[in-house]
Amino acid sequence: MLAVLDRRWPGAARRLRPHPIVELASWPEIRVRLVEEQLGGSGCAVSGSYHPELTPPTLLIGRSLSHRRRAFTALHELGHHLQQTDVALGERTFEAENPLLFQEKVCDAFAAEVLLPASAEPRTAQDVVAAYFDSAASREACCVWASQRIRGTVALVDGAGKVLFASRRGFSGSPLVRAALRSRSAVSDATGDAAWCDGYLIVVLHVASSA
Ligand SMILES: [Zn+2]
Repeated sequence: MLAVLDRRWPGAARRLRPHPIVELASWPEIRVRLVEEQLGGSGCAVSGSYHPELTPPTLLIGRSLSHRRRAFTALHELGHHLQQTDVALGERTFEAENPLLFQEKVCDAFAAEVLLPASAEPRTAQDVVAAYFDSAASREACCVWASQRIRGTVALVDGAGKVLFASRRGFSGSPLVRAALRSRSAVSDATGDAAWCDGYLIVVLHVASSA
């Protein structure tokens, strides 16, 4: 998808990274609209939708979202536009076992790749927190991005211990997570580390079976 993006809009990823919506607003081929309510459409898990039936194709983004969530959502919807307007990408989608789920996951990964530095090699939860503060990406986007680069499990947990994102299905916590929630400070042990990010806990576990 990054290659298709670059073919159609050379150098676009670099311009999209700091301010995706500002950049997209200057593209005549696509319209971006902030809306009060989610109007349905592509059935995205993010609070936005893609409307290929409109001219030009339109990305609707929830106005109530934070600045970071808006940026992520706009790029996720741009991902749908690429998938639906590029034959090879479209074919790839329909080879997947569950095309809709595949599209959603790939659009999330695409948004994270645009927002976060491609060359970075995060290794720890501290690295993921640093990427968050250096970018316009949401915590979830940072975790998606990190999970593409870190072997093991990357998770986002709220202050009450609820798992909001985990790169491994069924992840529900670990002794490390419980220690971080108890102490309200960053912790690390042989299994990995956990670091706080604006009231949320980012967790990297290197040992897959530690939950
Ligand atoms: Zn979607």
